[in-house]
Order: sequence, then structure tokens, then C-alpha cells
Amino acid sequence: MSRVLIIGAGGVGQVVTHKCAQVPDVFSKICLASRTLEKCEKIATQIDRHIETAKVDADNVPELSALIRRFRPDVVINVALPYQDLHIMDACLETGVDYLDTANYEPPDEARFCYRWQWDYHDRFKDRGLMALLGSGFDPGVTNVFCAWAQKHHFDEISEIDIIDCNAGDHGQPFATNFNPEINIREVTAKGRFYESGKWVETDPLSVSKEFDFPEGIGPKKIYLMYHEELESIVRHIPEVQKARFWMTFSDNYLNHLKVLENVGMTRIDPVIYEGREIIPLKFLKALLPDPASLGPLTRGRTCIGCLIRGKKDGKDKTYYIYNICDHEKCYAEVRSQAISYTTGTSAMIGAMMMLTQKWRGKGVFNMEQFDPDPFMEKLDLHGLPWTEVVL
Ligand code: NDP
Repeated sequence: MSRVLIIGAGGVGQVVTHKCAQVPDVFSKICLASRTLEKCEKIATQIDRHIETAKVDADNVPELSALIRRFRPDVVINVALPYQDLHIMDACLETGVDYLDTANYEPPDEARFCYRWQWDYHDRFKDRGLMALLGSGFDPGVTNVFCAWAQKHHFDEISEIDIIDCNAGDHGQPFATNFNPEINIREVTAKGRFYESGKWVETDPLSVSKEFDFPEGIGPKKIYLMYHEELESIVRHIPEVQKARFWMTFSDNYLNHLKVLENVGMTRIDPVIYEGREIIPLKFLKALLPDPASLGPLTRGRTCIGCLIRGKKDGKDKTYYIYNICDHEKCYAEVRSQAISYTTGTSAMIGAMMMLTQKWRGKGVFNMEQFDPDPFMEKLDLHGLPWTEVVL
């Protein structure tokens, strides 16, 4: 019986709230807090259990700490934006509460993300006897757990990991992103980066691509090499890995729109003066694009996210693929969200469940692959994210 405070009433926050509400024996009291109270209230009305709601600016540490003291959660689930991570961690330290998120910290004025800022909190969480679980979404999140599972059950030594994220869905909009447009576009327009033989190799944005044949009828699609945060933690915690890459599918339509927006300066994150006031073009673009939460009823098709892993077992070379397939329409029918929010929010709920049921415990700041993957994998199947593994 535990109390959970969810921060961020966006696409992912909606799924986390639904999913926590489905497990009352673990999440006995739920509070959803966000910058815009009406968004919390709208989500609360979709659910037939009582959900408390609150307005909070998570960048205001005293305001957030006061809310935490009032609601007294056992864990705070941060599904606001990566900009809030450090402030929410500060409030958790101040009030003595465990912390979980799904995306690592990014400074608002610099399109750069890395774990260093949050790993630097390790000693402070440890000294307070608290736990912070980082990156408990799907990727990062389940992909890290897939790697830990492969290491535990399928390999003596892992040499290569390719994380491959395919959204084979279609929302019918000329251009839209499946999660927060600002974060999504910052990620996609950044340089690619992969790990090889102890070094990081940089590539121009979306300049490396190849075809991958996705299973269960999804078929061949072009995948593009990108940098993604779980690579950083996986090569740290599974140090035998020689090569680690992250790939994502994009439609030609998405890429053409993005190229034009980049070319005209709409993806810039530095301030420009417009009619006497400063605006940030990417933030303005976000205001014009469809809210990812509005794509739920429109999106058809499936996602397929998984890890292709190579290494050795019993002295022999082995290639192993583990993946989840998620159907956008089924997700919408269950929680009124498309599969990107669903896969992320469900994994956040399971991560919190691991902490609250003492399956995953520790003092300090942790990534998902540092814990026993077995109890998490069991819950994935039970809570709507079944997985399949094949030896190739
Ligand atoms: P949305 O933009 O839909 O939602 C973010 C919510 O956070 C909004 O409701 C927003 O409020 C709220 N918020 C923003 N700033 C503050 C603040 N200072 N205080 C309180 N609330 C705030 O994003 P998503 O739901 O799509 O994404 C949520 C998180 O999940 C992001 O960090 C994203 O990177 C991560 N993510 C992780 C994935 C994974 O697999 N690991 C995949 C997809 C997303 P308002 O409505 O007022 O703007």
C-alpha cells in the first residue's frame, strides 16, 4: 500500500496515471500534479478511482517540496520534461522521497543530454538513504532491462548491442511528433553517436542508415543511427560491450518536413527577437504542432522496439533479438493514448512497482540494467507489454 505522486500531465503522465490506478494493491493513493491543473483534472475524470490533482511548477523547488510534504508520497514519478529532472531530484532530497524518471536531464538552452548531471546526485541520495531510478520508460528503460536479461540468461559475454526503435504507425497528420515535440526534435536533429572499442564515434545527424526487416509482418524499413541516452549507461554497466548503437525509423514525409523546418531556422533553440520580444523558434513551433496526446484516437499501426544482441554462449557465436510489439489502437482503447506514450508510461509504472514492492532496492542513483531483470520482465507481460525473443 503506497502513495505515488506523478508529475507531468502530458501523454506519458496520462498513461502512468491509468496504469497505477489499475494496480490498487501497490498504488493505493495517487496524486497527479502538473503545471496546468485542468490537464490533471481531465485525466482524473477518465479513471474510475479517486485521483488527487494539484497544480505545481516543478522548477520551483520550494513549491514542489510543499506539495510533497502535503501529499507524503513514497515515490515521485517524474514524467514532466527532462529540464525538470534536477529540480525534482532536489525536492525529493529535501523531503526524503524516492525518485523515478524516464528521460535524462537536458539543460534548456543547450541541445545536449547526458547522465553525468544525475549520476552526480548518487552520494546525496545514498547519504539520505534514498533511491533514484533513472530512465524507466521504454527506451531508455525496457531496452536496458532487455540487455540485462540477455546478459543474465543468454550470453556468457555480450559484444554488440543494436537498439532498434520502429514506429510503424500512422497518425494521418502532415507532421507531428509522438512525444513532446521540443524534446523529440532536439533529439532527432542532434549528431549521431555510437560506442565502439572504448570510444564514442560521432556522425552527422541521420547520415547513417540501413534497412532492417521487422518481425510479425511489419516488414523492412529504413533505420537511422542516432544517439540515445541508454547507450551511455549500458556501456558503463555492461563494460564487456564492444559496440553499442541506437537506430530509429522515420518516414520520408517526417524527414522532409524536418529538413525544411531546420533549413528555415524553426528548430533553433537560441532566442531570436521578433516584434521586440525574444522567442525561441523551437518552442514556437511546438505551439503550432499537434499535441502528442491528441494523436491517440488518430494513430493506427504498431510499434516494434527491441535489442539485437551479439556475443558468445558456451564458446559459440550467438545472435539474439528481443522485442515488444505494441498496437496503437489497442493502447488507445485501454488508456486513451497512442503506443509511444503507452510503452513509456507502462514501464514507468512497473519501475515504480519494483521500487515499492522492494524487488529493486538500493541507496543512491541507479539505471535499470543494474537490477535483476527477472521481476520486471514478468510484470511487462502482465501489464500490457509482452515480449518475444528469438535466436537468429
Ligand atoms: P508532454 O509534453 O506531453 O507532457 C509533459 C508534461 O509536463 C506537460 O503536461 C507539461 O505541462 C508538464 N510540465 C512541463 N514543465 C513543467 C513544470 N515546470 N512543472 C510541472 N509540469 C510541467 O510530454 P510527454 O508526456 O510526451 O513526455 C514526458 C516525458 O517522457 C519527457 O521527459 C519525455 O522525454 C519522456 N519520454 C520518455 C520515453 C522513453 O521511452 N524513455 C519516450 C517518450 C517520452 P503543460 O501541459 O502545462 O505544458
